[in-house]
Amino acid sequence: MPDAKEMMKAAVFMGPEKMEVKEVPKPECRPGEVLLAVKACAICGTDGRIYYFGQKNVVPPHIIGHEIVGEIAEIGGDVEGYELGEPVTVVTSIGCGLCKYCERGLTNMCPDSKAVGYYYPGGFAEYMIVPAEAVRQDAIVKLPEGMPYADAAMVEPLSCCINGQEYLNVMPGDTVVVIGAGPIGCMHLMLAQADEAGKTIIIDMDEKRLKMAERFEPDLIVDGRDGSSVERVLQATAGLGAEVVIVACGSHQAQMDAIRMAAKMGRVSYFAGLPKDKPTITFDSNLVHYREISVFGTFASHRRQFVKALDLISTGKINASKLITHRFPLEKIVEGIVTTKKGEGLKSVVTFE
Ligand SMILES: [Zn+2]
Ligand SMILES: [Zn+2]
Repeated sequence: MPDAKEMMKAAVFMGPEKMEVKEVPKPECRPGEVLLAVKACAICGTDGRIYYFGQKNVVPPHIIGHEIVGEIAEIGGDVEGYELGEPVTVVTSIGCGLCKYCERGLTNMCPDSKAVGYYYPGGFAEYMIVPAEAVRQDAIVKLPEGMPYADAAMVEPLSCCINGQEYLNVMPGDTVVVIGAGPIGCMHLMLAQADEAGKTIIIDMDEKRLKMAERFEPDLIVDGRDGSSVERVLQATAGLGAEVVIVACGSHQAQMDAIRMAAKMGRVSYFAGLPKDKPTITFDSNLVHYREISVFGTFASHRRQFVKALDLISTGKINASKLITHRFPLEKIVEGIVTTKKGEGLKSVVTFE
């Protein structure tokens, strides 16, 4: 059968709590596109939310996964600058290429941003197309030779943390508090340490997570279950509060506490969103006023931050392998998603060997 379609294995999201690992046609590499042989794709908290609840930009049947590492397997017509077999990762946010944000390279802020692994098919498959629009926007980021694939899969989540911290301007000597000791919280902690923060404090309410955070050696680990987080931070800072507070969990209380534990001229990051049906918090706005506190939002990342994340990992300034606690073959992707959702370990990576 010379004309039989080539097939590949893929995890196909069919709707909430329905993921089928099966043979599907291998995508054709058309002019302008690049085909990747996926080597690793890490599981993000967002992948879990899509699996359980669906998402408006993900229309089933669909292949998700956006923390992608692959090797170039085919190069479409009119595409130059790549070689077969080169290891790469792909910037998630693909912009329209025309708006004022895209002009500045801020594809994550583009009003028409389309994301790989959401709108476009993602990396939970043996092969994946890098869309022509993404190739044009230079979304393919080459990896240095010999970089372990699973480590490289940490580039995307780290790039998002870099986006968050670029607003916060962590200075040597600053006290940095991270609320939420999941994988993202731990990445924030590592970034703050790399920026020579004076003191790092991590807060969580989950025993497993608090235990896991020990491996990153923060100066203080706070169990927030007794409601004393703000006091503990004030105690640890001679009553002054923390220069930087990062909220890496979708908690109303944590967002409100963050402002109360910030020092004068403190910078607060709302890194995680709140549930869409209950997105409101209240806080004493005079704290923000008199103490000159800034609150920053952050969403996804763009190419420059991918390159920075790659540099931090490949030079060992951020030890990515410390974040990886589980590896799964594609067949066991649901197990990986459940593991992530339960907060067991930190990052789970689907690997293709
Ligand atoms: Zn992610
Ligand atoms: Zn745009």
